[in-house]
Parts: sequence; C-alpha cells; structure tokens
Amino acid sequence: MSSILQSMASLAAAGTMLLSSAVDAAAPQNDADGLLFLVNRQWRISQNYEPETRLTDVPGQVRYMREDASLALEEMYAACKEELGVKLKAVSGYRSYDKQSNIYNSKLKRVGSKEKADEYVARPGASEHQLALAMDVGQESDKVNLTSSFGGTKGGKWVRENCWRFGFILRYDEGWEEITGYSYEPWHVRYVGKENAQRIYEANVPLETYLQAWRAEKLLEIVAED
Ligand SMILES: [Zn+2]
Repeated sequence: MSSILQSMASLAAAGTMLLSSAVDAAAPQNDADGLLFLVNRQWRISQNYEPETRLTDVPGQVRYMREDASLALEEMYAACKEELGVKLKAVSGYRSYDKQSNIYNSKLKRVGSKEKADEYVARPGASEHQLALAMDVGQESDKVNLTSSFGGTKGGKWVRENCWRFGFILRYDEGWEEITGYSYEPWHVRYVGKENAQRIYEANVPLETYLQAWRAEKLLEIVAED
C-alpha cells in the first residue's frame, strides 16, 4: 500500500476534515478551473465563477459540462452501452449560481425553513454542478430520476464500478454523509481526471478525505525540497 493510500485509510477511519492552514497553503483550492477543486456546504464557490462549457453529445436534458468532463462522459456512456447494453442519459449537468439560487429559493418557499430546505437542496455556491464537472446520471428507460433506487439498477451498478475508468468518482456514497455533508446520491458523478479517479476508487474514500491526504503529500514534497 502506498503512503498516500495509508494516510487516506487512516483519515477515513478518523472521519475528520479539519485542515491546518499550513496544509491549506499546498492546496489546489485557489484553482477553480483545476480538477480537484472542492465544493461542499463549507467550501463554497464564488458567485462569479462561470466556466466555459460544451454541449455533451448524449441523450438527456441539461447537458453542458466543461470540455474535458464532457468528452469523458460521452466515452463513459458509449462504453456502458457497448459493455452492458444499457443507454444512460444526462439528467442534470452544469448549473449556474443563479440557477442554483432559484432552485434553493423555490424549495425554501415550499418547505418553509432553511433547515428543511438544506436537507434537499444545496445552497447557491455549495453545488458541484456550478463547476460544470458534475453530472446526474439516469438510465434512458427510467421514468423517475434522482432517487436512491438508481443505485440498484443495472446502469447504476455499472456506473459505480466503472466511472473511475473515465475520470469520474461517485461523490456521495452511502456512509459518507458526515464527511461530504450530502445524502447518498448514486446518480451524481464528479469528474476529477483519470489518475485521481483511480486512486480515489481504490482508496474508497470521499473527495474530502482524498484531498486531505493529497495536501499532506504535497506539503511533504515542499518540505523535502527545502
Ligand atoms: Zn448532482
């Protein structure tokens, strides 16, 4: 086991996401266009961040993503059809800050309190969809989307086991709620590039945990160079 995997395993066991400011200095967190930029309920993205996007050539609805993610998604959907015979579709890709704001506010109106709304919808700036690196995936034949039952479908199982091959990770797995801040979402994949995706899949940890190990490793490299 490599040292980064060992530290990831121990961090996962600790379930912690505290970051020292020194380690933060080595973080990719200032690079919103980078592949490892972290967005969650604590780490929000600027209202002004609007990435360049491309219309992904797959069936479905909201299909805009950043180019690298978009091309990888096309590859993944083609492989799923080829290997499994299942056609996947796009349910929701890029969402701007304003769009997320509208979604959040209409939920807030319906449920009446921020506490309740927060259970279902990310606040503006707290959604990975604003990065244009995330996609909510469905099977073309599915009538209902974005439910945990997707995890039990043929396509859902295939996505879980294979998305890393194309540079995606399952971002919100069961049992990670305390670390990610989000419920189990078997339909939501996030693009991080092939190398990161493989390491994260093998370590079987949330992005938050991987980043902590990644930062620690970078810091050690910086110290070693001095
Ligand atoms: Zn999503």
